[in-house]
Amino acid sequence: MPRGPGTPRPRPNSRPALDHGKTLAPATIAAIATAPGEGAVGIIRLSGPRALHLAREIFRTPQGGPFPEFSPRKLLHGRVTNPETGEVLDECLLAAMPGPHSYTGEDVAEIHGHGGPFSLRAILRLLIDRGASPAEPGEFTRRAFLNGRMDLIQAEAVADLIAARSEAGLRAAMGHLSGRLSRELEAVWAELIGISAQIEAAIDFPDEDLEIQVSARLVERAGGTLGRLEFLLRSFHTGRAVREGTPAAIVGRPNVGKSSLLNLLLREDRALTSPLPGTTRDTIEETAVIGGIPFRFIDTAGLRESEDPVERAGVERARRMAGSASLILLVLDASVPLANEDRTILNELAAPLPPSGPAVIGVLNKADLPSAIGPDEAGRLFAGGRSVRVSALRGDGLEDLEAVMVETVLGGGLADGELLLTRERHRERVKAAAEFVGAAIEAMKAGLSPELVAVELTEAMSALGGLLGKDFTEDLLDGIFREFCIGK
Ligand code: GDP
Repeated sequence: MPRGPGTPRPRPNSRPALDHGKTLAPATIAAIATAPGEGAVGIIRLSGPRALHLAREIFRTPQGGPFPEFSPRKLLHGRVTNPETGEVLDECLLAAMPGPHSYTGEDVAEIHGHGGPFSLRAILRLLIDRGASPAEPGEFTRRAFLNGRMDLIQAEAVADLIAARSEAGLRAAMGHLSGRLSRELEAVWAELIGISAQIEAAIDFPDEDLEIQVSARLVERAGGTLGRLEFLLRSFHTGRAVREGTPAAIVGRPNVGKSSLLNLLLREDRALTSPLPGTTRDTIEETAVIGGIPFRFIDTAGLRESEDPVERAGVERARRMAGSASLILLVLDASVPLANEDRTILNELAAPLPPSGPAVIGVLNKADLPSAIGPDEAGRLFAGGRSVRVSALRGDGLEDLEAVMVETVLGGGLADGELLLTRERHRERVKAAAEFVGAAIEAMKAGLSPELVAVELTEAMSALGGLLGKDFTEDLLDGIFREFCIGK
């Protein structure tokens, strides 16, 4: 059932509340908030109605006495002590942040200890023994959302910020977290409410003249709203590239220099190699951040090690890549005339790929040697596409190739990071909203009854409301927060 952030917190899967008989109060949760392993500092986070109480129970002054009261949002120096045994677990700093002006909107305490996993776990265990519940992944941020501290787009941005692998990804996440995308969507939503109100007036006071007058102006207003939604939709292409990286593949017959090109693109200083454990070597991919956006070179293990003769021939691989990559670097050895295998691969990729299929860039390699493929031929081979001459051996042409790659993905410049739709969920909802607004406009133009127009507008608002989290289901939240780490 949809609920708004203002309504009491639903806890369908909740653990029993441990709050002294106040069974309706949310549990007080605790987690180690810093990354596992040794660090200079490790942080334990507590949130909930008993957070400050629990913190006071275990956090003592350096002299060993209790703190009379925690001054809010100040770092206090003291020692975490087991109140039963008097054992001192760690010398720490503590910050108490009473709700509602805290991350979660609840009372929050953070204990900054020495970053040893063993000592952090000992403190966490002490808190759990005294009634705190271990937090689920993303539960702090989930509470922040449920308590109205942020909307869903901002909550998602928290995960994106942590996972960002490029500067552009970071900028997009920060833009979302700061609420600029949310504000734009809220503004569109408010505009739809305004239009709806006028439509409702036409329903309540069915005066024909008024109706016609109203609709001429309303068609214009709705058109403006549709334009804003379409502007956002166009940003998804870039937004997805920035958040997820562009899946790219290098194809070509054996010995044209595919591996050499990959190595060049993955120059040590910026390559992130990410063999995914537990999956087949086919899924090994390596990421290069080029022009601020990540390119994920998929199936690089196949490229480097394939012994399958069909796979080696490159044709099968090209065919497969056409389905999963959105950018393909088709490598030719330009120092020799085209081979039949080259033609087969070219046909395979130039053949009727759907418009949503991958973009193909021709890479005429071995440019350090005399060329056997002239500019005219290259132009014919990659008609409608682009080709770049490089020497994977010497690095010549690398910058040109990179520029073409970035331009192919972004279609000119990195767009304003703050108004990017970065997730499929965003795109779906904005697309639905745009379609309903479009239908409302058509209905108005066709002079259909205001009731029908109102229905379309309500649907559009509901799509945007869902995007911002004005209404939501537990399943939706589970899906979003599952990807968070514990302690966030
Ligand atoms: P792959 O089978 O397509 O992955 O090709 P490799 O990257 O293994 O390269 C095949 C051969 O071509 C190797 O001997 C490379 O050193 C050589 N090679 C690759 N790129 C160039 C280049 O730009 N110029 C020259 N002269 N040789 C190259």
